[in-house]
Amino acid sequence: MELRIAGIVKESVVNGPGLRFVVFVQGCRHRCQGCHNPETWDPAGGVAVRAGDLLEQIKSVKLLKGVTFSGGEPFLQAGPLAWLAREARKLGLDVIIYTGYTWEGLLALARQEPAVEELIRVSDYIVDGPFILTERDPELPFRGSRNQRIIDVARSLREGTVIEAGFS
Ligand code: SF4
Repeated sequence: MELRIAGIVKESVVNGPGLRFVVFVQGCRHRCQGCHNPETWDPAGGVAVRAGDLLEQIKSVKLLKGVTFSGGEPFLQAGPLAWLAREARKLGLDVIIYTGYTWEGLLALARQEPAVEELIRVSDYIVDGPFILTERDPELPFRGSRNQRIIDVARSLREGTVIEAGFS
């Protein structure tokens, strides 16, 4: 199973709490003004990698708290990322996904695409919504603009409404 990525960072402390393995996926349709990673927009750019090879690299890093999928838009490659997230969770790692879709938009997409629903369900936290330049706030922990929410996925699905997570 392959996916296209823009790159990885094996040990990051700025893409969620704790030490994290970050996969920057390739391809994004949101085209946010002020996007920091416009080189990730082209779905044909980046490099193709096997999800299994990424898992082996994750296993090679000691003391990880979790993995983060960022972009680009992770939900455009939901199938292989859902597999990778599930395998990462078997290792005791948590999963954070940064998406340009809002939570409500993702749930609508999930009704049409089973892989999207699967990726939502195997994630612990989703940071949702596009980057909005006028809402930019460099003081915000782990996100770029004030419209973006850090969502506790399990609680939000259980309670049928957005429950924001407490990590900062
Ligand atoms: S969703 Fe992220 S990668 Fe895509 S355009 Fe917006 S800021 Fe850039």
